[in-house]
Amino acid sequence: MVPEVAGSDPVDRPIFPDNALRALPFGECIMSAFWNKADFDDHEVVHFVNDRASGLKAIIAIHSTHCGPAAGGTRFWHYEDPAAGMRDALRLSRGMSYKNAMANLPAGGGKAVIMADEARAKTPEMLTAFARAVDELGGKYITAQDVGMSQDDMVALSRATDHVAGLPWEGGDPGPYTARGVFLGVQAAAKRALGTDNMAGIRVAIQGVGSVGGGVARYLADAGAKLTLADVDSGRADQLASKLGGAAVSCDDILAADVDIVCPCALGAILTEQSVEAIKAKVVAGGANNQLATGSEGRMLLERGILYAPDYVINAGGIINVLRHIDQADDEQINARIDLIPGRLESVWAESEASGLPADEVADRMARNIIGR
Ligand code: NAD
Repeated sequence: MVPEVAGSDPVDRPIFPDNALRALPFGECIMSAFWNKADFDDHEVVHFVNDRASGLKAIIAIHSTHCGPAAGGTRFWHYEDPAAGMRDALRLSRGMSYKNAMANLPAGGGKAVIMADEARAKTPEMLTAFARAVDELGGKYITAQDVGMSQDDMVALSRATDHVAGLPWEGGDPGPYTARGVFLGVQAAAKRALGTDNMAGIRVAIQGVGSVGGGVARYLADAGAKLTLADVDSGRADQLASKLGGAAVSCDDILAADVDIVCPCALGAILTEQSVEAIKAKVVAGGANNQLATGSEGRMLLERGILYAPDYVINAGGIINVLRHIDQADDEQINARIDLIPGRLESVWAESEASGLPADEVADRMARNIIGR
């Protein structure tokens, strides 16, 4: 039974005030707030954690455990509206189901958000309370680092639960592994769209040269590609360009650069109707998460004859590394798993060509099939 609650749109109704939570059994609270809402995708379970002593308020969303324990990072973020935190948890956990499925990992999809206050105060007590909540799930959810959580925070969590992946002594920084997978994916895209996987002389524009983009730039430079780089930290792009022998350009120009391949490695939602229209490259393949602003840009790319590498397929190297936690795989095994990324992209592109569906839709369908949806 969905309880009656004042307000016409339950999604916009704050669910955090104590009286609302006390009045509603937890499951019904979630059901009433999100039942039939776009972001609820038959999630198996959504936990709401409210620890009065530490002030911790968190959501742990488990989308699917079909392929194994739900795995995905913990985000520490201040949301204007608690429902936005829930939306993030629901969407991101589904994304993790897809990403883990397409990486052939023995893991399902989950995500946690810790709802930070405006001051973004994070205390050891909050982290311990959160770790205990993860521990109570008995391994059904494995957490990892995400926006707003540091390696030190993850180490702190690991003192109260074993279900933390990506610790410094277990593979550590996922960036270099993600970069290697993205490089292999870019090479596969070049082979399909440009007819060669020899990157010598291929012109690649990289947006964002941090942990992932910087690593991809180094692989590409080693392979002889001609690099154009941009970063909001222009000094960082300049420095890398002079070191690797490329050119640095303004962030405003990078997506529309006159190149063969655009490699977005900064923010999400950078592929909009406007930016896709301006792309001159034949390929978009990069590590940034959630590149399509609304989802419909995948079709635009297809119609413009631009080959798109679905982000969560090409950027899975990091999670492949982090989830060595599950089977204690060594580096050689991790690299062998990352080597499979180009093959997965090729099967997505082949199906896209056969069906006429955009690559992102094909990847979603494949992922849903793997998780039994
Ligand atoms: P990072 O913070 O190390 O690097 C991001 C870089 O992008 C920074 O140098 C930043 O200055 C730059 N940047 C930010 N906004 C920009 C803009 N508008 N234009 C140009 N540059 C901009 O982050 P990262 O770990 O390299 O991650 C990059 C992207 O890859 C993110 O979308 C992240 O979610 C995704 N990703 C990362 C990993 C990983 O293992 N680190 C795994 C999967 C996906």
